Amino acid sequence: MTEADRLDTLLREHRIFPPDETFRAQANFKDESIYQSAAEDPEHYWAQQAQYLSWQQPFSKILEWEAPHAKWFSDGTLNAAYNAVDRHRETNRKNKAAIIWEGEPGDSKVFTYDMLGREVDKAAHMLRQLGVKKGDRVAIYLPMIPELPIAMLACAKVGAIHTVVFGGFSAASLKDRIVDADAKILITADAGWRRGGLVPLKQNADQAVVDTSVEKVVVVQRVGENAQSSMVEGRDVYWHELIATMPHTPFAPEPMNAEDTLFILYTSGTTGKPKGIVHSTAGYLVGANTSMRSVFDIKDEDVFWCTADIGWITGHTYIVYGPLSAGTTLVMYEGAPDWPNRHRFWEIIEKYGVTIFYTAPTSIRTFMKWGHDIPMGHDLSSLRLMGTVGEPINPEAWMWYHEYVGRGRCPIVDTWWQTETGCAMIAPLPGLLATKPGSATKAVPGISVDVVDENGQSVAPGHGGYLVITKPWPSMLRTVWRDDERFQKTYFGQLPGIYLPGDGAHLDEDQYIWILGRIDDVINVSGHRIGTMEVESALVDHPAVAEAAVIGRAHEVKGQAITAFVTVKEGVSTSDALIAELKQHVVEKIGAMARPEEILFAAELPKTRSAKIMRRLLRDIAEGRALGDTTTLADPSVVEALKSQYQDKE
Ligand code: ATP
Ligand code: MG
Repeated sequence: MTEADRLDTLLREHRIFPPDETFRAQANFKDESIYQSAAEDPEHYWAQQAQYLSWQQPFSKILEWEAPHAKWFSDGTLNAAYNAVDRHRETNRKNKAAIIWEGEPGDSKVFTYDMLGREVDKAAHMLRQLGVKKGDRVAIYLPMIPELPIAMLACAKVGAIHTVVFGGFSAASLKDRIVDADAKILITADAGWRRGGLVPLKQNADQAVVDTSVEKVVVVQRVGENAQSSMVEGRDVYWHELIATMPHTPFAPEPMNAEDTLFILYTSGTTGKPKGIVHSTAGYLVGANTSMRSVFDIKDEDVFWCTADIGWITGHTYIVYGPLSAGTTLVMYEGAPDWPNRHRFWEIIEKYGVTIFYTAPTSIRTFMKWGHDIPMGHDLSSLRLMGTVGEPINPEAWMWYHEYVGRGRCPIVDTWWQTETGCAMIAPLPGLLATKPGSATKAVPGISVDVVDENGQSVAPGHGGYLVITKPWPSMLRTVWRDDERFQKTYFGQLPGIYLPGDGAHLDEDQYIWILGRIDDVINVSGHRIGTMEVESALVDHPAVAEAAVIGRAHEVKGQAITAFVTVKEGVSTSDALIAELKQHVVEKIGAMARPEEILFAAELPKTRSAKIMRRLLRDIAEGRALGDTTTLADPSVVEALKSQYQDKE
């Protein structure tokens, strides 16, 4: 047996939820044969999906593949902003709500497609006037306000490449990205709102742009007087002042080649230094648009709410380009889920009649920690479909979501994908596939995935190994910005022509895929390779536990010993007895080899700013090392607290 063979799931999940007949009857994708026909001729499938976009110059070529470089639809031209906004203005969607925006303080705005189009046109005129040309990079560092999608779409309209930097990043992280992308313009805000407090975006921006290529800083006034920001003469301009002077004429969409870069986005940095992922115009848009119709079963009547920040790929694809290219009404919320109280998300669903809700396991675990009474106190009957993304979802969290948010009625699409993949890759089509809590199920039509061992051989059902994507797909990353070698090495360096995402997976007897976590995080205890996900899920299965992070710490005898960091639900008191009980619970759920050597209670777990657990830092703490790259850490004090807690223990 190879190493990869033994990377296997020990935790068995037997619950299964067949697709609902009524749902299937109305689904966009209701014919099972699509899986087979798309697998037989993926290029034909994608060429068909590409017809849902509006092309300036139709394509005749579909795929050119010189591994690891792909070109899709390469002789076609189109414009992403035209596809996301303007084409709907020419139809009866003209006065349909495109963006329903809610600010954290309670203010709100609605943009119809026509209104959105006019704002994008003015912003495009503004960029042009600031000297932005096709191919120039524009960095965007904004809170979740309407100017953020407007700025992105304006870039797309003039043919500039946007690179959005999440508003939670520090000045230093912003600077790194500006320098790497060589941005000419920075669009930011005077400040942002977070839990009633101010995020000093402009102050950070002032530090970040020093000694960079940035020539102009455009400042959106979000907070106003209290923002404590100042303007640098000659360099800084207010968005609203400049916009007010722009012509009210339509801005002609720049014809873009299918392969022209639409944006650069840096990965979360969970495993190390963030990579500048480069996405193309047409392929990316085809992927985003197709998955709205297939995975999210989007209809004209839907109200779609993805709770991610636009600073992450999930927000790019499922707040901006996916929903808008499909002519959807989307909800965009500026703030925190617990501001002014823990009812906020459920109130938003009630208020706007959200029909499709898409969030992250980390949020679901937080809601679990707060208790199910909170969602149960709201009328969530508008919901018809729910999704998750970002991390493996623990089966207990899936069940909680199913019961207390979906009320047992709504299919759940667990969507596995990455910044690099552009759109959802492994996810159920909700009218067609039965779901199993904790499994992202199968690849979507047109995507070929496999689970392989070290030598690239497919594992048999019932085994684990490395997740791979075996064929190119339209929305795949084209390269790492100005580092094609890193692109080739990171993703295609192991198996020629085969894309390696870096995640471990298990294939079950029904060919369902269970993501076990990152390969880097896999624990090796006395020769058993254990995914972090299953030990964590066993812990979360215990009624006292809200969240858990598990790592392997170097151990003289076993090779590695399991250390678990556990956050308990509110009202639960921690004790040695609880530690013993939790260890026993893991043994019962998985087996003796998975028994944690030590369990530490943590008030919070270290997470990236995209809210993913950073296990590598926990490993550094447990092995007494200096901490690795912490720039993407959401709250550095969490790690410091754990570090001193860990040292005290020893
Ligand atoms: P970096 O690559 O810089 O370390 P990152 O991998 O966290 O950062 P993202 O592209 O935001 O950056 O995240 C993609 C990763 O998130 C996937 O590789 C996978 O590990 C995890 N992931 C996303 N969705 C799911 C899901 N539904 N189930 C399991 N894991 C998921
Ligand atoms: Mg990654």
